[in-house]
Amino acid sequence: MTANLLDFDLEGLAVFCEGLGEKRFRATQLYRWIHQKGASSFGEMTDLAKSLREKLATTAHIAPLKVLTEQKSADGTIKWLFDVGHGDAVEAVYIPETDRGTLCVSSQAGCAVGCRFCSTGHQGFSRNLSSGEIIAQLWFAEHTLRRTLGSTERVISNVVMMGMGEPLQNFSALVPALRTMLSDHAYGLSRRRVTVSTSGVVPMIDKLAQECPVALAVSLHAPNDALRNDLVPLNKKYPLKELLEACHRYLEFAPRDFITFEYCMLDGVNDTPDHAHELVALVRQARLPVKFNLIPFNPFPASGLLRSGAKVVADFAKILQDGAIVTTVRKTRGDDIDAACGQLAGDVQDRTQASQRMAQRRVVMMRSATEAQSAAHAHKSTSEGTA
Ligand code: SF4
Repeated sequence: MTANLLDFDLEGLAVFCEGLGEKRFRATQLYRWIHQKGASSFGEMTDLAKSLREKLATTAHIAPLKVLTEQKSADGTIKWLFDVGHGDAVEAVYIPETDRGTLCVSSQAGCAVGCRFCSTGHQGFSRNLSSGEIIAQLWFAEHTLRRTLGSTERVISNVVMMGMGEPLQNFSALVPALRTMLSDHAYGLSRRRVTVSTSGVVPMIDKLAQECPVALAVSLHAPNDALRNDLVPLNKKYPLKELLEACHRYLEFAPRDFITFEYCMLDGVNDTPDHAHELVALVRQARLPVKFNLIPFNPFPASGLLRSGAKVVADFAKILQDGAIVTTVRKTRGDDIDAACGQLAGDVQDRTQASQRMAQRRVVMMRSATEAQSAAHAHKSTSEGTA
């Protein structure tokens, strides 16, 4: 098994090169070829010595993700579904705007947190992505878009770790990927333009502050513990007081002087004027500089939840703004391709169910063939076939 070079940040790649008996600066050349130029084969790396390219050919590879589908929305949003093996798939979404290009990246196949309003949460947890699988989403999107647009300039200016999964529950793979996003020898993104979104894994918020402080967004969704316990089950482990204290500590290291609070607006659940006033009081008491981002919910049948009406959202935003809290309402993007927030995973779930149905059918067909030779088991095949 050879090493996937997408797994390494620059320091990791330098250690790998030293292991091959090469000087550390070779790692910088290699890193630039991979991430700045989008090279996927060592033959392209013409300024590397032939002897090094030959060594790399037997010890390393660059593993792109296999694209299962690409969907383009009328508003320019693009959603890719990537195969990550063993029936798992993850999604990345590109959102173009006039002044920026944002890529929403996944960190896990599925998610263990199980938020009630989240399609990924309903899917359950399958596995952590590797660093290489996280950065491969950016590698693919950036270089594919550059080719498509005929651009030599950077297309993606912002990354949000808001795709499938809780990034801080995959910390050891997340950090090398973040470092590659930030490195001037790779994507060169500003720390302010790389955002990790968490449901509130308190110890890992502190660890992120120490190891790789980038912009932080917290999925809040409720103004009190009782409601948050129900909507974001992780709150039972790390209640609001602990979470807000961790946000305070993070601000000392953060590249921005505020924390973003994401708040998914759920009809009749967390969207009343009382909830808004409670939020204002919570933020005041915590003395925390925050910016609220109100997110229109994208309903899916298993959630049993509905989207708040536009007037309810506007009234809610006004109460927060009157309480001196900067508040924005997120525009929904890519609605027509199910790429909006909280919709990622619908395709994965369908695909999994489809593959399960196909596997069941295969088992039934094999059994039928076997059982045709044995009249004693003929009824079993029929009963299992209809199960
Ligand atoms: S909202 Fe985030 S943390 Fe919650 S279940 Fe969905 S992916 Fe996981």
